Amino acid sequence: MEQELKTIYEVQLLESNIINNEKKKLIGPKKIEEMDRELEELKKKAEKEKAVIDELEKERRKKEKDLGVEKDRIKKIEAKLYEVKTNKEYQALLKEIEMAKEEIDKTEEDIIILMDRTEDLKKEYDSVLEHMKKRENEIKVEKDRLLNELANIDKTLEEIKKQRDQLLKNVSEEIRSTYLNLIEKREGLAVVNVKNGVCLGCYMNIPPQLFIEVTKNNRLITCPSCNRIFYFVEDI
Ligand SMILES: [Zn+2]
Repeated sequence: MEQELKTIYEVQLLESNIINNEKKKLIGPKKIEEMDRELEELKKKAEKEKAVIDELEKERRKKEKDLGVEKDRIKKIEAKLYEVKTNKEYQALLKEIEMAKEEIDKTEEDIIILMDRTEDLKKEYDSVLEHMKKRENEIKVEKDRLLNELANIDKTLEEIKKQRDQLLKNVSEEIRSTYLNLIEKREGLAVVNVKNGVCLGCYMNIPPQLFIEVTKNNRLITCPSCNRIFYFVEDI
């Protein structure tokens, strides 16, 4: 009986391994999809920020050109100052120069504001790029790991199932049917350990006398609360 209990416990370990691998098989492709989406979103964010920076720089270059035009205009007006005949004309030209200078001041202020904003955005853009690069590397490693795992998972599952079925043949009909029934009803967990008098399947206390019996592993004992089969393993 002790050997049979040990065997059914080993079957359970394989069963848990199968469940674990089936979960991975289900979750793996979703994780990969999620990571691809994350990178795609980071790329879009970076592109958006770059477009705003480009737009601001274009605007700055246009303002700088305007500045040049305005400065040329002042030079031309100043040249005319020597040619005018009347004071009225002279005053009119001075007024024009003054207005052009005001225009220049305003444009220069605009350029400074544009440069400040561009500088801030560039810092932000750099940090987005840095974060993207870091995530790209991390995701590549994780994706490779998952893809490798998924590539072998069917073969792994097949092997573990074969081992499980083989071991199941080595136990009595009573234990096998109890086991299979519990696997069905107890979400894949049929054989459990007991630690400090607590069932590790349902976490209920079991009577001290029963616990002593369980530690002997010499007969089929099931949990009074969850009906799972007990197999005692020390120090787990
Ligand atoms: Zn229990």
